[in-house]
Amino acid sequence: MVSNFLFKVLIVGDPLVGKTSFVQRYVNKTFSKHYRATVGVDFALKVLRWSDTETLRLQLWDVAGQERFASMTRLYYKDAAGCLLMFDVSSSNTFYNCIGWKQDLDSKMQQRDGQAVPCILLANKCDLGEWAIGQTEVDQFSREHNFIGWMETSVKENRNIEKAVSVLINEMMVRA
Ligand code: GDP
Ligand code: MG
Repeated sequence: MVSNFLFKVLIVGDPLVGKTSFVQRYVNKTFSKHYRATVGVDFALKVLRWSDTETLRLQLWDVAGQERFASMTRLYYKDAAGCLLMFDVSSSNTFYNCIGWKQDLDSKMQQRDGQAVPCILLANKCDLGEWAIGQTEVDQFSREHNFIGWMETSVKENRNIEKAVSVLINEMMVRA
């Protein structure tokens, strides 16, 4: 017997931090330097064999355009099982705006049992080397705002992409 799980996973954060690139890399294993500003919401589906007895369907919701307003509608957050919040390590504003993003998430997103939805903080573009913010600050922010953790990623160099999603999946499975 194989159990099937379906998880809606959101990826949010300021424009240009690398959200769409992350989804493309994770789902299609590609990276493109061309920025395509889509409008609306893009969905990507990834099917994984998690264990001998468990199959997962991850529905990745990528915002496109509306993130300029640093807030999303309740419909977008509805029934989400997990969330990736991303900033760009070379842009301090994208990090400081994570406070607002997390508040938006926490105010609009709740599991049926009232628990907070697991959220992981992604410090993307770590291939650039130049950090505009201190890692201790990121660490502190992650703990104070109840993230399950944070991780450096580089979509460009394919660093920690699969791992970040695995950490989130583990947490979602515990609560499923
Ligand atoms: P979104 O607006 O958050 O969806 O961001 P995009 O995925 O469209 O990416 C914005 C720009 O950042 C594009 O030019 C990407 O190629 C670039 N980018 C994304 N991830 C990385 C990364 O890890 N490192 C570097 N150097 N550039 C990246
Ligand atoms: Mg995008």
